[in-house]
Amino acid sequence: MSDNASLRARREAVTPRGVSVAAPFFVAKATNAELWDVEGRRIIDFAGGIAVLNTGHRHPRVIEAIRRQLDLFTHTAYQVASYESYVALAERLVALAPVPGPAKATFFSTGAEAVENAVKIARAATGRPGVIAFTGAFHGRTMLAMALTGKVVPYKVGFGPFPGDVWHLPFPMALHGVSTADAIEALHRLFKADVEPQRVAAIIVEPVQGEGGFYPAPPELLRALRQACDQHGILLIADEIQTGFARTGKWFAMHHHEVAPDLMTVAKSLGAGLPISAVIGRAGVMDAPGPGGLGGTYAGNPLAIAAAHAVLDVIEDEGLVERANALGRRLRERLEGLRARVPAIAEIRGPGAMVAVELMEPGGGPAAELAKAVQQRALQAGLLLLTCGVHANVIRFLFPLTIEDRVFDEGLAILERALVA
Ligand code: PMP
Repeated sequence: MSDNASLRARREAVTPRGVSVAAPFFVAKATNAELWDVEGRRIIDFAGGIAVLNTGHRHPRVIEAIRRQLDLFTHTAYQVASYESYVALAERLVALAPVPGPAKATFFSTGAEAVENAVKIARAATGRPGVIAFTGAFHGRTMLAMALTGKVVPYKVGFGPFPGDVWHLPFPMALHGVSTADAIEALHRLFKADVEPQRVAAIIVEPVQGEGGFYPAPPELLRALRQACDQHGILLIADEIQTGFARTGKWFAMHHHEVAPDLMTVAKSLGAGLPISAVIGRAGVMDAPGPGGLGGTYAGNPLAIAAAHAVLDVIEDEGLVERANALGRRLRERLEGLRARVPAIAEIRGPGAMVAVELMEPGGGPAAELAKAVQQRALQAGLLLLTCGVHANVIRFLFPLTIEDRVFDEGLAILERALVA
């Protein structure tokens, strides 16, 4: 078997540096919240494949569902020959999602593709080009998704020009001096200074910014966006690609709010590792594009659809919504208990198990080096952590919601030592 060092050398020779890899090891095997590398070392996984593994690595029911589908058919191209499981998954998502009915859903492969298609649908439905997004937002790596993304390094450097008619509003971050009133004021200023609202098709917002730093959107912001949308005939798109499927202690993060989106994008944990995403939206809006306007060769692949049905079953049957709240509470309590010993802890935030801790220097600047050091110390002790944030000074937690208590406690102990060191 190859060792990590020789695999890294082979990787550097034949794969571009643009695809940078956080962890220095190569994975051989994974189960629930544990990974083993090619040298037989065990690592506890608090990264969850970037929010993809709410139901863990290789959940037996997900594997069984994929296996059953493997014996039937693996691909037809849904647009050529359809299958019931696709329709049934649309029925289930439409019933679960906080989109006012009647609603419809359609499937794609990646998060970026769902975002692109949500904007296509919004443009077709409104006959308008403009899209408003937020600074710090992450919506994907395709051209339009990059244009919507509100972080330049590393996502946008050297890749322009981007599609036009995209504007950004500041996302509220009290810790960094941006209030909700600032964001709402910026929207009104945008309509005065840059674009008339009648030219705007959609506002896209993450109910909790993911890559941007796990900042929850304040309820007043979402209310103001909904109001502006209603007033001007603009569609509200909630990007729930990172927040979806029980992570925030509700099925979807928008369930924490009284306002509803017109369109939603989901992906990641829907497929538990098989590539599947979806756009869910009000039926009248979803039907705006003409026949043939939506789709994709692999969109709604039957293996991924089978996995998604099993994921929804597991979330329901294993009570993962409640489990997200319980695990998040335990993590938050543990972090709160460290405040005295780790003065760099500036904020512990996030709903349910979508928890993050933001680290600041004694002088008040973002402590990106410290976040990196904590990540490295944790990894040396066998715990995989992810950072995020516009300033890269936030440690976020995306462990499987199925994680065993024993493994969770072991991970928390390593985290504590890494933070206190
Ligand atoms: N939107 C959000 C909120 C995301 O977190 C991500 C991925 N991190 C994307 C879109 C893009 O998804 P993908 O990488 O599957 O294209």
